[in-house]
Order: sequence, then structure tokens, then C-alpha cells
Amino acid sequence: MCGIIGYCGPRNATQILVEGLKRLEYRGYDSAGIAVGLNGSLKVIKTKGKIKELRQKIPGDMISSYGIGHTRWATHGVVNDINAHPHTDCSGNLAIVHNGIIENYESLKNMLESEGHIFHTDTDSEIIAHLIEKYFNDDLEKAVKEALPLLKGTYGIVCIHAKDPGRIVGARNGSPLVVGIGKDEMFLASDVTAIIAHTKKAVYLEDGEVVFIKPEDFITTDINDKKITKEIEQITWELQEIEKDGFPCFMEKEIMEQPESIKRAMSGRIDKELATAHLGGLNLSTKELINLERVKIIAAGTSFYAGMVGAYLLEAIPRIPAIPELASEVRYKNPIIEKNTLYFAVSQSGETIDTLFAMKELQRKGATVLGICNVVGSSIARDSDGGVYIHSGPEIAVASTKAFTSQITVFYLFSLLLARMRDLSFSAGEKLITDLISIPLKVENVLSRWQQLKEMAIKYAHYKDFLFLGRGVNYPVALEGALKLKEISYIHAEGYSSAEIKHGPIALINEETPSVFLVPDDELREKIISNIKEVKARKGKVIAISVEGDEEIKDIVDDVFEIPATHELFYPFIMVVPLQLFAYYCALELGRNVDQPRNLAKSVTVE
Ligand code: GLU
Repeated sequence: MCGIIGYCGPRNATQILVEGLKRLEYRGYDSAGIAVGLNGSLKVIKTKGKIKELRQKIPGDMISSYGIGHTRWATHGVVNDINAHPHTDCSGNLAIVHNGIIENYESLKNMLESEGHIFHTDTDSEIIAHLIEKYFNDDLEKAVKEALPLLKGTYGIVCIHAKDPGRIVGARNGSPLVVGIGKDEMFLASDVTAIIAHTKKAVYLEDGEVVFIKPEDFITTDINDKKITKEIEQITWELQEIEKDGFPCFMEKEIMEQPESIKRAMSGRIDKELATAHLGGLNLSTKELINLERVKIIAAGTSFYAGMVGAYLLEAIPRIPAIPELASEVRYKNPIIEKNTLYFAVSQSGETIDTLFAMKELQRKGATVLGICNVVGSSIARDSDGGVYIHSGPEIAVASTKAFTSQITVFYLFSLLLARMRDLSFSAGEKLITDLISIPLKVENVLSRWQQLKEMAIKYAHYKDFLFLGRGVNYPVALEGALKLKEISYIHAEGYSSAEIKHGPIALINEETPSVFLVPDDELREKIISNIKEVKARKGKVIAISVEGDEEIKDIVDDVFEIPATHELFYPFIMVVPLQLFAYYCALELGRNVDQPRNLAKSVTVE
């Protein structure tokens, strides 16, 4: 969601801001803007639409030494040029950008209007500029600290003032901000992708912290001006990881990277000698792990489906009761914390606000919550009680792909670890490890046959409705397949357990509604074949993702994509990849913007 970048230093801020915004494009946005200091005043340029349109509005000679930039994902006020950020105060000397939602903006706006402030936009964010103006007395940092206690809601705020030139003030409450430290120059951004072209040194702000930066240094305090010493951390991502590297788009690159990203998720975590797994960051003693009675997994979107796979595995392998729950529901249902229960908060970005807030609610009530995140230093990674990084490398495409397969890799490892502490034998552990290690090659095999999925997508992309059907451990994969298709092709799709279709969805079946069935060679295969026949009997078209050597199915369905055989619990890896590619090629066939689908944002940092 919305991106923020700030810069002060000897180079041209205008150029650095626009390049930084370009790097943040992946987060999803609808308008963009910058404000830079120029000859003792501020110049603000903003527009609805893409960075390309913003660039066209910026004069080539607009050279400045400090400024701020923003990509907006509108929450309050329609998408238009005026509502785009930055917003200014009445004097035009102060500019702010904001990520998040100010919940009490209406009452603050009434107060400020009664004091004579004139508002120009319909956003909640504009009140921040006027509120800081109210307290400004030649010291921007001080004014920000006086204004912040009045704000209710979530924010990452970055601001500049023409009368306090060359400096930037940032504040965080619920929306991420990171300081990038360069040589005689400083950056402030909503995520590290905006700054890694310039520096690898980062300081992550916590909620309630304010940072005051100038080219040569920075100071962090709380809002009461108490100094806070921060640790400088090294960013591990490489610049080339956030570039397309010859692929037409990030989504294709990230799908194709999966053999590698899955290997990275397991790297250094498999102990062949003891036939178990090591997960360093859990912060739980052996005794605590042995005493575990249940696991709950909270997440949203694709991470939720990974969590469903995880819960299935935890019940199947170590036989621990496990349930996945939607983070957005957990947060508001006054959750009951049971003893010896471990929670996982799963989020690629580690910033998903529903998951973050659900985690905090659970922790407040005494729960132990571990994070499963990709982004190092993200809010969930830092505020959880421990956790596991999935090490996928940056995921830039809005529709998640490689994070899903890496998240489930972590659940296989955790299940193996717990199972070996319980009643899984050494040889059964060894067998699971052999199967897990063989997965990247099998995924590679599926990826190498992309052409077949492309042809299938060309044949089916013009249908308006789809069903995705799977059972057991592949049921969440069916849900994920439907979600992928919806997200990037805008084709309506529903995912169900195939056993469920007779309880309702079969009413939708006709020649115009194709079904994609996941057909592994496990004990449910026969049942699934019966479901396929029920669909065929109603003239529904059927695509089957089935296992090599299953000849029978070819006579029953319209199209087949074959996958290599594996242990029955490992099919989610191999089943999901063809569904990702199918969705991708359908979207291409329909001419969609695959990396930045409409209305969606990468890391969902508002409720
Ligand atoms: N609530 C603000 C707006 O609608 C900020 C949205 C964002 O985070 O981009 O302008």
C-alpha cells in the first residue's frame, strides 16, 4: 500500500524521490506526488495516475537538496490530483505525506477550521499539515511532537518545512518507516526497496518513535522528546533482486524463482543426522515444544491459505490440533487464549495490519505468537515473540506466489520438528526429508512445461466464471488457485472442497463454467473422480491437474496438466504452481496489468 520516500543530501532530491517512488510502485497506488525545497519555499507536484504521469509534470531543472514523495492508495477522498499527497498547510511552507488512516480527522478538521485553517482536499491526511502548522514556531520537530498526541489512528508521516530547510521529520504509529543512512545523505522510506540502490544501512522505526534527519545524522526520540538509541542494521536484499532480470514482469520472475526460493526456505534447517528440522528463531525450549497442545495460525489472503495447509500438516504429521483463523476476525472477536497453545502470524510483508493487530491483541492477552515473514525487520518480525523468516527474497508482484510455497516449506519443517519430538520414527522423518528435498526439482519440472499452461489459458481465459476444487491438503490450494485468477485476471472464481459442490455450487455448473480439479493419487482420488463425473454429467468443462501416469482421467476430462508424483502430503507445492501459471497466462491473454492489478495493494497496511 502507499509508499513514502524522503531524501536530504548533496544529490538532486527530485530525481532520487521519483526513482524511489518508481521502486515503490509494486505496493499498489492510484496517485503520486513530491514536494521539494526550492529557493526558500516548497514546490509541490502531484497527480492521479502513474509515476510516468508525475514525471511528465516535473520540470527538468527542478534541482533540490531535500524533499518527500508519496504514492497514495486512497482511503478517504476520491482519487484525483488534489487529494494526492503531499499536502500543505495554509502557508504553503509545510508539506506532509501520510500512510494510514487518521480516525478522528473530522473533529480535528472542525477545530482547525474554526481556528481559520482552510482545507483543500477530502483526505483525512490534510489535517496533519494544518495541525503541525498550528504548533509550528520555526522548529518542525517540536511542532510535530506537539501535534502527534492529538492524532488517533495509524500513520507513517514524513514532513518538511521551507523555514527549516534541508531537514526531514518522520513519525510512525502502525505504518512502517525506515531510515536509510548514506554518506552525507539520508533517506526515509516506507520500505527498503526504495533505498537499496543507495544504501544498505537501515534503522527501523518503532511505533511511537519520531526521527529528525539531516544529511549528516539523525536523532530518534519518543513523542515526549526522550532520546532513543537505535541500532543500525544491514539490509540483506540485493538491488538485482528487486529488478526484473530479463523477465517481462515480476510475477513471472517470482513464479519461476520458486525452485530456488523453496530451497532457501529450507536451507540450513534440515538435520539429516537426526532426521529433524532446526528453526533457530522460535525462542521456545524443547520442553515448551513438547508440551504444546494446539496451534493456531492467523493470517490474511494467500498467507491464510498457506496457514490452512500448515494447519493440515500439523494435524497430519505431529498430530497436534491446529486451526487457521482469519486475522481480521481474530482481532475483534475477543479471542480466548488457551494454555499450551502456540500462535503463528503469517505475513509476507510482515506489515499486514490485520495480522499485526490480531497478533498484538493475542499478545496482550498472554499468547505466544511467532511470526512467519519474508521481510526482515518488518513489524511482525520485530514485535512477535520469535519466528521464522522464509527468505524468499523480495516479492514485488502484488499477487503472492513464491511467498506461498516458502511459507508452506516452513510449516513442513515445523511439523517435522514437532513430530520427531513425539511419535515420528527416525526412518519416517528421513522419508519426509527426502520428499521435501525433492520438491524444488519437481517444481522445476512443472515450470519447464509452462507452454502447455499458456495454451490452456488462451483456450479458457474468455470464460467469466470458474470453480477450483480440491480436497484434503489440496483444498487450500484450490482456494489459492481461485484467488490468483481473481486477483490478476479479474475473472470470477470460487474455490471449494470438491466434496462440497453437491451442497450448493453444482447449481452453477453449465457449459460456461469450467472447473479446475486437483487430482492427486491419494486415497481421495476416487471420490474426486466421482465429483468430476457429476460435473461432466451437467456439461461442465473440466481441467484436471493430475499425476503422471493417471491415464484414466484423460478420458473423463477436457484438459489435463500432469504433475510429477510425490508423497501425498507434498502435493500443495506441485499443485499450486500450475495454478499460478494458469492465472498468469489468463491475465496476459486478457491484457491485464499483472504486477499491479486494479484496486489491490501489495502490503495491506490499512484495515
Ligand atoms: N488516508 C490517506 C488518504 O486517503 C492515506 C492513504 C495512503 O495510505 O495512501 O489519502
